[in-house]
Amino acid sequence: MKFCSHCGHTVAFEIPMGDDRPRHLCHDCGAIHYVNPRVIVGVVPYLGDQILLCKRAIEPRLGLWTLPAGFMENGESSEEGALRECWEEALARVRTDDLYCVYDIPHINQVYLIYRGELTDTDFGPGPESLEVELFHEDEIPWDDMAFPIMTETIQHYFADRKEGIFKLHRGVIERKL
Ligand SMILES: [Zn+2]
Repeated sequence: MKFCSHCGHTVAFEIPMGDDRPRHLCHDCGAIHYVNPRVIVGVVPYLGDQILLCKRAIEPRLGLWTLPAGFMENGESSEEGALRECWEEALARVRTDDLYCVYDIPHINQVYLIYRGELTDTDFGPGPESLEVELFHEDEIPWDDMAFPIMTETIQHYFADRKEGIFKLHRGVIERKL
């Protein structure tokens, strides 16, 4: 950040009084421009023993498969955001069960909240950000063509829990790859 979004003056990058880390702050109008983690909301849409995946039509990871997910918007709950993403990317409607996976990725300042949700029908298809949308049995999952390790892990949890008949909340902190 170079200029204050409140008044247009040049901002400094320093530790504000009483704070413990540097922020972009404006010495002209006094605004402190906090930057906090972003929340990604998503869903594991399932039907019977199948789950729905989307093949990405956009970068990053164009052409690879993922669960419907995206950045949470202002003014919506995480569950509403997950349903919205499912509709936008897969034109699919789900009835959400529970929050299923929570992942923190501190080094890229992201938090993932992934729900489980049963498809209400099989009337789905690719939205603008997807090339294809398909239901997969466990043995049909394109494991080698998954876009994001977090989604791979979520799907592995899903099928393991399904075998046990108990879906529990999974939490994880993804550390920077060395
Ligand atoms: Zn300012």
